[in-house]
Amino acid sequence: MAWFKKARKPIKAAKDKSSRVPEGLWVKCAGCSQAIYNKDLATTINVCPKCGHHFRLNATERLRMLFDDGQWTEFDRGLTSTDPLKFTDTRPYRARLEASIESTGLKDAIITASGRIDGIETVVAAMEYGFIGGSMGVVVGEKITRAIERALDGRLPVVIVCCSGGARMMEGALSLMQMAKISGALARLDRAKLPYISVLTDPTTGGVTASFAMLGDLNIAEPKALIGFAGPRVIEQTIRQKLPEGFQRSEFLLDKGMIDFVVDRREMKAAIAKALRFMGAAGPSPAAVEPAAPAEAAAQH
Ligand SMILES: [Zn+2]
Repeated sequence: MAWFKKARKPIKAAKDKSSRVPEGLWVKCAGCSQAIYNKDLATTINVCPKCGHHFRLNATERLRMLFDDGQWTEFDRGLTSTDPLKFTDTRPYRARLEASIESTGLKDAIITASGRIDGIETVVAAMEYGFIGGSMGVVVGEKITRAIERALDGRLPVVIVCCSGGARMMEGALSLMQMAKISGALARLDRAKLPYISVLTDPTTGGVTASFAMLGDLNIAEPKALIGFAGPRVIEQTIRQKLPEGFQRSEFLLDKGMIDFVVDRREMKAAIAKALRFMGAAGPSPAAVEPAAPAEAAAQH
């Protein structure tokens, strides 16, 4: 028997106490460091009401923002990577895919769909940064190409919202081939005299910048988005020069003539609709675009 006994229970760790502020109610703005009420962000499409900082949107939110009444018909929902190289780095590629499918609810880093933008029937592809950094592999390339081909069949304009770290290294050269494939499809769209608008959001880098992101009839960027090919450190080491302030940001690229417009997200839909009308897209009958497999395209949001 012990001489001394602990009469009281040990003090519980502080983290067991529930916080009085529910999680996720406030977010700290990366632009002005102020706390913003989450519900306020929802009304401004994730733009800080105080300083105009653009928070990242996921692919679904992006489509909801662009399409009339948040209604669209999705294409090729079920396409998924087969891990052709059986690639493993710190983790097997297959495990990374499964984790991303779990966390985003998507099968790969893009949603392609058709719907109306201010009454104009349009094919839109929106990239999902949450899925392995929005990287472009075989599935992303194939879905964008098919979306462009559907636009060709239905004589519809195309809008691609880029948000990507570049080509997907785990698919090696196969991911790089997507650059040529998508560019080829866009060339056919161009020959058919159908408009293509590229929307560059934070971040747009690597093989995506080096192909379809910069091939728009109009290349429109969101404010202060990181847009580039290689990272600044790699460039500094290569050219042995200090890079200027604001390098690789939308405003700098606009100044240098790399992009056509910088448009605030809250005016993006109106700007796209205006540009499409200017380029002659009045919009044919909505029945003109027929999804390939009705079962896959049934998802209405
Ligand atoms: Zn702010």
